[in-house]
Amino acid sequence: MTSDPRRLVPRTDVLLAEARVAAAVGRLGRDLVKAVVTGVQQQVRAGALAPDDAADAVLAALPGTASSLHRVLNATGVLVHTNLGRAPLSAAALEAVVATGGTTDVELDLATGRRGPRGEGAIDALLAAVPAAEAAIVVNNCAAALALVATCLGGELVVARGELVEIGDGFRIPDLLVSTGARLREVGTTNRVSAADYTDAVGPDTGAVLKVHPSNFVVRGFTRSVEVAELAPLLDVPLVADVGSGLLRPHPALPDEPDLQTTLADGADLVLCSGDKLLGGPQAGLVLGRADLVQRLRRHPLYRALRVDKTTLAALEATLRGPQPPVQRMLAATVQELRARAEAVVAALPGVDAVVADAGARVGGGGAPEFELPSVAVTLPASCAEELRQGQPPVVGYTAEGRTWLDLRSLDPADDDTLVTAVRACTS
Ligand SMILES: *Cc1c(COP(=O)(O)O)cnc(C)c1O
Repeated sequence: MTSDPRRLVPRTDVLLAEARVAAAVGRLGRDLVKAVVTGVQQQVRAGALAPDDAADAVLAALPGTASSLHRVLNATGVLVHTNLGRAPLSAAALEAVVATGGTTDVELDLATGRRGPRGEGAIDALLAAVPAAEAAIVVNNCAAALALVATCLGGELVVARGELVEIGDGFRIPDLLVSTGARLREVGTTNRVSAADYTDAVGPDTGAVLKVHPSNFVVRGFTRSVEVAELAPLLDVPLVADVGSGLLRPHPALPDEPDLQTTLADGADLVLCSGDKLLGGPQAGLVLGRADLVQRLRRHPLYRALRVDKTTLAALEATLRGPQPPVQRMLAATVQELRARAEAVVAALPGVDAVVADAGARVGGGGAPEFELPSVAVTLPASCAEELRQGQPPVVGYTAEGRTWLDLRSLDPADDDTLVTAVRACTS
C-alpha cells in the first residue's frame, strides 16, 4: 500500500496553475512563488507533508509582499527606532506615496505643460511650517545635507571639539565632513568652548561655522557651549546648525531639543535636520534658511546626486500638511491613555502571565538622550521575546528584570488588537 512519495509530489506547473497560487504569481512574481513551490515539493518528497496539502502549504508560506522587509510592531518604547525604520509614516503620507508611486507631476507644470520646479509642494509646506526660513531644499538624509553643505561652503569649517560627534553605527560627523575635502578647524576643548574661541578661529579661509547638536549624549559638570543666539551676531561667515531631530517648533515635552524655527530666528543662516526623526516623515535631509545659501546648494553638482524621489517629496508634504503624524501622537499620549490600553491588552489575555507595569520610553534616533518619557508596558515571561520577534507580524519589545516588556507608547493604538493576537499565539 505504501507508495514512493516522490511520485506523488505535485508538479511545479500544476501547483503554479492552482487558482490561488496563480493569483499570487500575479501579485508577487513567478520567481518568488516558484521558490516557495520548490520548498514545499521538498517537504512532500521528504514525507513531511501530504501531497494534497501542498497548495495550502504554498499559500501559507508565501510572503505578504514581494519585499523581504516585514511590517513590524514596535513595542520597544523607542519612538524613533533606527533599526525599525525610524518614524512610521502617517496614513496621509502613505496615501501620498501610493498615489505618486506611478507617474506623477513631480517636475511638470500641468497648467502650462512645461517643466516645473521639482518638489515645490514639499518646499512650500516646509516654509509654511518654518516661517523663519526663506528657502529650503530636500536631500536624501541629514548626512547628505551635511555633505552638501561641507562640499559647497567648506574650505574650512569651524566646529567645536565637543560637537564632533558619532551618531550611531560608526557614523562620525567629522569623518563625513573631511571626506568631502573640507578642512575642520576644531575650537575649544571636549567640555568647553567660548564665543571667542569661534571668533578667533574664523579667518579668510573659513567657509562656515558649524554647530552640531550632540543628539545622543550629554556632557555634565564643568562645561560651556555657545548658543546660536550668542554666536550669530559675532560672525561674518555663514552659521550652519545641524539640529538633527527635526522638531519644527519647540516641543513642551522636550525642552532641551532644538527646533528649526527657533534656531533660525536665533540667527542661524542654515539649519539641517532629518525628516524621519521627530518630524515624523520619510527619510530625508532638510536644509532651511537663507535664500542665497540654499540657492548655492541647489546649484552645486553634488545636489543632483543627493536629491530625493517623488514618493519622498509626496510623503514629506503630506506629513507637514496632513494630520499629526504618529511620532507626534506617541509623544503626546498621556500615561492614563497608555495605562488604559495596557489594561485592555491584559484583559484580552485571560490565563496569560501578562502584567501592566510602569515603564520609561525614549525618543531614540539620537534625540533627547537622557530624557525618559513616562510610559506603560505589558510584561510577559522572558521567553516570549524571541517568539514574538519571529511571529507574524513580528513584535519587537525588550527584555529587563527577567521579563519581556512591550511598551505601548511606541505602538500605534490601532495595532493593540494585533498585539493581543500575537501574544496569544506565542503563549498558547
Ligand atoms: C541623526 C543625526 C544625523 C544623521 O541623520 P541621518 O538623517 O540619519 O543622516 C546628523 N546629525 C545629527 C545631529 C543627528 O542627530
